[in-house]
Amino acid sequence: MHIIIIGAGVAGCSSFLFLRKYLGSERHTIRLFESHANSLDTQNAIGGGISLAPNGVRTLSLLAEGIAQRVISSGFECSYAEVRSGSKGTKLGRVSMGSRARYGWPNLLVHRATVHETLLAEALAQDANKGGIQFCQKVASIELAEETGRLQVTFEDGMMETADLVIGADGVHSKVRDLVTDQKVKPQYQGITGCGGLVDLSVVAPHLQEANGWFGVAPCGVRQERITANAEKPTEPAESGKNEAMWWSVYTSPDIPPSDNPQSVIKAQLVSRFGDYEGAVGEEGIGRVRLLPRFTMSFLDKWHKVFKTDEAAVPHACVVLVGDAAHIQPPESGQGVSFAMEDSAALAMLLQHYVKEDDNAMDSLQRALTSYTELRKPRVEAIIRESSIASRQQEGKGRLGALGHGLDHVAVLQDCSGVAE
Ligand SMILES: Cc1cc2nc3c(=O)[nH]c(=O)nc-3n(C[C@H](O)[C@H](O)[C@H](O)COP(=O)(O)OP(=O)(O)OC[C@H]3O[C@@H](n4cnc5c(N)ncnc54)[C@H](O)[C@@H]3O)c2cc1C
Repeated sequence: MHIIIIGAGVAGCSSFLFLRKYLGSERHTIRLFESHANSLDTQNAIGGGISLAPNGVRTLSLLAEGIAQRVISSGFECSYAEVRSGSKGTKLGRVSMGSRARYGWPNLLVHRATVHETLLAEALAQDANKGGIQFCQKVASIELAEETGRLQVTFEDGMMETADLVIGADGVHSKVRDLVTDQKVKPQYQGITGCGGLVDLSVVAPHLQEANGWFGVAPCGVRQERITANAEKPTEPAESGKNEAMWWSVYTSPDIPPSDNPQSVIKAQLVSRFGDYEGAVGEEGIGRVRLLPRFTMSFLDKWHKVFKTDEAAVPHACVVLVGDAAHIQPPESGQGVSFAMEDSAALAMLLQHYVKEDDNAMDSLQRALTSYTELRKPRVEAIIRESSIASRQQEGKGRLGALGHGLDHVAVLQDCSGVAE
């Protein structure tokens, strides 16, 4: 079977690795295409800090215990968060984040780049320069080639590839999703934008001043040297580094902020929203601020599509979605990265289970994808329902709906402890 994965984010890299592990690369070709350059070769790490839930760390361990340990050693174990008022630092409550004691694996506060680059470096090391992973290749279209029954993937530079199975790991604005839903489901901007970054822990003051909106700070592990990838000496992050805090904030904005907003403008807006925010994060240490407009999306009927040709004898090709392409998690769920990896693991295991050597491969493929949708959709959608602020925002009283209700004009310090509850 020829498998093409589109997008080398967390979902795409983990799909590449899980497919190699569970399906094997002798009988199947597994290739990964990414529109951007290799992020391991660039200076800028993509994304800020994230919360990686115990189920995400456990999923990493299914790839290899060493991969999970590499990420754990770069993160900050955080079993609960304390919410405090910014003005006086009074404790308002405590939220459980999941502990080792309960789940066997920790909840981690860690750079998104650490998780992504660990997976990407491992994928590159396993590929060993055999051309299975290609960067700067943006998919322009995917069509069924009637005569072969295969999918034809065309890239913006004109290159073409054929596949029996295309895995859409192409994120929130997925092109592959358009095929699955016949363009009927599109992500909607929520009118809320996240804003955040990383600072040296030493510049974070013990409390925040009164502010308008939501503002959080949490330790985020140790900044590692960039992970390097080469086949001979893969994926050992250097030990040197310094402690960092991740900070984030959420604000309402009726339109999506322009992606090319200069940093000076973004920082000035941050100051105007939070007034004395320097009490939390000193100007000199604030570094690059990242904006993340938040999207929501209605649930898809299914996460895969089978392409049938008129010729019964010709096999049927399929597409399937993983990660943000299939579902958009509210950031509060802390499950975006974890669910992307769980999707990849489940898909690879089901393909291993159904696609046997002597079978009609295409029938088996359809059974595997149907089971994948049936297994993953209810779990993911239940968590989205529970944690979604989108629906609550409709009926919310404050400018930020449920999130802002009771928090408007209150700054929040999230204080975490690595000690298990
Ligand atoms: C504000 C915010 C906070 C969050 N906090 C958390 C958190 O605390 N914990 C957590 O687990 N998750 C969090 N998330 C979610 C998490 O970042 C995502 O769910 C996760 O990264 C999904 O990964 P993905 O691989 O599906 O998509 P992406 O990371 O978007 O990767 C998609 C890849 O596909 C590539 N691509 C797109 N189109 C094409 C094309 N046509 N051709 C080739 N390549 C293409 C892109 O360049 C990209 O590399 C947060 C998200 C937001 C917005």
